[in-house]
Amino acid sequence: MQGQLDMEGALTARDRVGIQDFVLLDETTEAAFLSNLKKRFSKDLIYTYIGTLLVSVNPYKELDIYNKKQMDIYMGVNFFELPPHIYALADNAYHTMLTEFNNHFILISGESGAGKTEASKKILQYYAVSCPSTTLLNTVRDKMLMSNPVLEAFGNAKTLKNDNSSRFGKYMDIQFDSQGDAVGGHILNYLLEKSRVVHQNHGERNFHIFYQLVEGGSDDLLHQLGLERGCQHYNYLTQGQCPIVPSINDKNDWKTVKNALQIISFDETATNHLFEVIASVLHLGNVRFDSDSKGHALLNNNTELHWVSNLLGVDAHRLQEGLTFRKIEAKKDQVLSPFTTDHAIYARDALAKAIYGQTFTWLVNRINESMENEDPSRKTVIGLLDIYGFEVFYVNSFEQFCINYCNEKLQQLFIELTLKSEQEEYEAEGIEWEPVQFFNNKIICDLIEEKHTGIISLLDEECLRPGDATDLTFLERLEEKMGNHPHFVTHKLADKMTRKTLERGDFRLLHYAGEVTYCVLMCQSKNDIVKECFSSMDPDSRRRPETVVTQFKSSLQKLTEILVAKEAWYIRCLKSNESKQSGQFDEALIRHQVKYLGLMEHLRVRRAGFAYRRKYDVFLKRYKPLCPATWPHWRGVAADGVEVLVQHLGYLPDEYKMGRTKIFIRHPRTLFATEDAYEK
Ligand code: ATP
Ligand code: MG
Repeated sequence: MQGQLDMEGALTARDRVGIQDFVLLDETTEAAFLSNLKKRFSKDLIYTYIGTLLVSVNPYKELDIYNKKQMDIYMGVNFFELPPHIYALADNAYHTMLTEFNNHFILISGESGAGKTEASKKILQYYAVSCPSTTLLNTVRDKMLMSNPVLEAFGNAKTLKNDNSSRFGKYMDIQFDSQGDAVGGHILNYLLEKSRVVHQNHGERNFHIFYQLVEGGSDDLLHQLGLERGCQHYNYLTQGQCPIVPSINDKNDWKTVKNALQIISFDETATNHLFEVIASVLHLGNVRFDSDSKGHALLNNNTELHWVSNLLGVDAHRLQEGLTFRKIEAKKDQVLSPFTTDHAIYARDALAKAIYGQTFTWLVNRINESMENEDPSRKTVIGLLDIYGFEVFYVNSFEQFCINYCNEKLQQLFIELTLKSEQEEYEAEGIEWEPVQFFNNKIICDLIEEKHTGIISLLDEECLRPGDATDLTFLERLEEKMGNHPHFVTHKLADKMTRKTLERGDFRLLHYAGEVTYCVLMCQSKNDIVKECFSSMDPDSRRRPETVVTQFKSSLQKLTEILVAKEAWYIRCLKSNESKQSGQFDEALIRHQVKYLGLMEHLRVRRAGFAYRRKYDVFLKRYKPLCPATWPHWRGVAADGVEVLVQHLGYLPDEYKMGRTKIFIRHPRTLFATEDAYEK
């Protein structure tokens, strides 16, 4: 009955605000999908469901839908009884966690600027504000909330795609006790884009924190750190030529970050340490070199170097030596071989990146300590995954390769969990099923990561090969191995196709989300290897050292393992237009995203499939009190008991199917009605 009322309600509202759940669309064509999305977007209705998956379109304007009143409306209410909202998804995951006492994760995906970080913040706010709490626990919540502005200051930056683009991947576990109190949090961070510290492309900025400090820091603080007010004084802040961004208020953000640091228990010493490091990076960027008559690097002026040495507490002489000489171990002696200016600049930049990278890791560790759950017994978690989105720039280097590879992996996980295993399960359970075709990006993941033959393996081999490996030898190897792969194009091969030509030294990957041309991959990863990756080498073992990209690959592998052990919820974020304008619905852009995110396929599987499934014994155990024939004991086979039970509850034949081991329920509404009866 309730279901019918909802249907009628939706029908009358259909013309006005579109359909709230794509599953109820009359036809599953792309045109119908886009038209519904557009209709809703024009009314500021940015959320729409595909079953329990939430589609979100970036409105690029503040909407009055994220307040305490709205949170209260959604708290504890069944998913489909209210208009789609991110709070409904958060609440549903939360209540499922409490009733089933299991772990969950929310995968937020979409390209750069689509709204992933905003979505993850809304969810965290929902849990922090809405879940029951005691005064004591409030402090943990505040810390969780305040970890955001701090990590964004250090890990986000303005790019051409997004004024607040995440330049690191973040997975955060929110831990709840059995009462549903949020009692702790833990963050895992993934590969920070460190090259940004020393270089920014035109129209982009360095990490926010640098600008916040030189614009917002007090006179005293700047004086203490040897800094001048204003970003124009610093080489590392001005390469992108856009230090001032209208949408960003560095001075205000500085105050927010300072305040947040206090809340997450940074005392004065820790806070000072943090700013000293930031300042030392700025000073390093201003260290310049001249060359002597032999072309060897000489320090141009000692002032900046002394600041770095003071702030970091390292000996100035050793620092200078490290920046201008290479140490060569010859038998028992050490020989110093002078750098050219290019080498010296390279060493300086590598040092700045390493300092910043380590500080970021330190910061995450400190935040984790402060959010630590004091009683780790009996807890369940909801994990929030917010990573850097797929991105294509004019010049794409090692970092974009890692970012896009990460997105490729998450798309693969989504496919595995929704399209593939879902269809396989129907088959295994003997449910009649018309297979839905989909593009499986596993082929691209394999191209990148397969052992011995993937791009990462080849990159490793070249990087670790002693001697004269260069970008070009790497490319030759790639061409040799991947030449015929349908998702791989190089300079030589590009000529044969009608595609845009490629520069010598570039190669192109046809990712699930679009084509990306990468350049000088190896040289850049090699830098990192020299400076830091060998640090992971265990001196006692003879194992091959790991490169950055291999470490990244294994951290993604671990992440996948963390995720598949949990129940999944999905938010697919769509970017409404490229110019960050409110009210603009760029149909071609959105169609492209709908396509590559696999939303149509997901809809088709959802529509033909079943929203819920439960093992017979689990279902029977929970709901047997609802039927006299099954209560208190059902003496026969569980499947028969379930059949008797659902007949008694009046399930219509079309609403459920009996599989080999599980009952499949088509619409969540049916299960909600049963759950309501159970609660009563
Ligand atoms: P990246 O992959 O680059 O980190 P992202 O998907 O995390 O991108 P966000 O930073 O979340 O993107 O969003 C970009 C901008 O879009 C935000 O700074 C904000 O201006 C706007 N935006 C996103 N979601 C919303 C929303 N729900 N309401 C209002 N504005 C939004
Ligand atoms: Mg982001």
